[in-house]
Amino acid sequence: MAAARPMTRTYLDYNATAPIRREARAAVIAAMEATGNPSSVHAEGRAARRIVEDVRGGVASLCGVAARCVTFASGATEAVNAALNPRFGVGPKESPIERLIVAAGEHPCALHGHRFPLSTVEMAPLCPDGRIDLDWLADACGRPGRALLALQGANNETGVVQPVSEAAAIVHAAGGLLFCDAVQLAGRVSFSAAALGADALALSAHKIGGPKGAGALVAANVDLSLGEPLIRGGGQERGARAGTESVASIAGFGAAIRACVADMAEEAPRLLALREHLADHVRGAAPDAVIFGESAPRLPNTLCFAVPGIEAATLMIALDLAGVAVSSGSACSSGKVTPSHVLAAMGVAPDLARGAIRVSVGWASTDRDAEHFAEAFSGAIRRMRAGRAAGAV
Ligand code: PLP
Repeated sequence: MAAARPMTRTYLDYNATAPIRREARAAVIAAMEATGNPSSVHAEGRAARRIVEDVRGGVASLCGVAARCVTFASGATEAVNAALNPRFGVGPKESPIERLIVAAGEHPCALHGHRFPLSTVEMAPLCPDGRIDLDWLADACGRPGRALLALQGANNETGVVQPVSEAAAIVHAAGGLLFCDAVQLAGRVSFSAAALGADALALSAHKIGGPKGAGALVAANVDLSLGEPLIRGGGQERGARAGTESVASIAGFGAAIRACVADMAEEAPRLLALREHLADHVRGAAPDAVIFGESAPRLPNTLCFAVPGIEAATLMIALDLAGVAVSSGSACSSGKVTPSHVLAAMGVAPDLARGAIRVSVGWASTDRDAEHFAEAFSGAIRRMRAGRAAGAV
């Protein structure tokens, strides 16, 4: 009997993690051969140190800061957890930050990973288009107590780009500080800490084609070594983050940054065209589909939509069986699928939010991927609607 041909897989979930870029894989493998500990003073140690410092320079130039502003971490979750504490950039003799304002659509690593007493945390509402409500922010900043605002550069579910520099102007005018989770912005849109007005930023390697397990906390305008380190031990990373640096992962992170920066001018319009092509397919097969955040500026690679009456979990499984990997906008925990907190903050009705599907493209995505999606999606919608019509008879 002839062996079944393996099914073609189409990966459209770059916002969850991007496939590793060839350059990053090569850099990881090469760095694995660097035997030394970057803290050792012998030649092997110095060779490992050179790899780490080279990448530090790359991260710094991506963000438009000096190399000394960059602290490596195991990923963005750690970087965000490390940053969001009442001593954020505050010296031991100064008074701590009194309030954390966290935008309602932030990643759970900010919403649940900060180290502020809960009584000092306020949630900044989003407007229906997914952007932070700047009027609310201005009022909140007018209240007593120095505040730190945690605001993403762009949302991982909807791709909505936040008005970070406008928020920073409001927060700074009131004497506060701004922390920006730039995970989804990096590698997709050019930015700098100064243009964003961010006092510190977090980045993650695996979202841009680097390996999982590397990221950075970038302190642009504050001295985060004054704050409370999350991981204590040796004096690595100038005392800001103990533990031997993951040299190979950092090397891959650096190679991915170089590749993204080199490609960005052509990639951004290419991905935007691909996303619009995907959106046309969605509307073609389901004219009643709702695209979330459509009226706001969005990342060129992200499409988040729902088809009324179609559950995301069912559609996602149908697409997966047809060889297409996307994700649902809902968080699934303890077997219970709950509507996305991001869509809830935008005022999307829970019934519609339960249908949210996120399609995100990236460096290896092609027109062929869009065609595969179109075929799988229209087939799935047709079958589901036919099944519902039959059930209704
Ligand atoms: N912030 C955003 C916006 C993300 O999308 C993610 C990843 O899901 C993170 C933070 C966490 O990144 P990491 O996987 O590097 O911990």
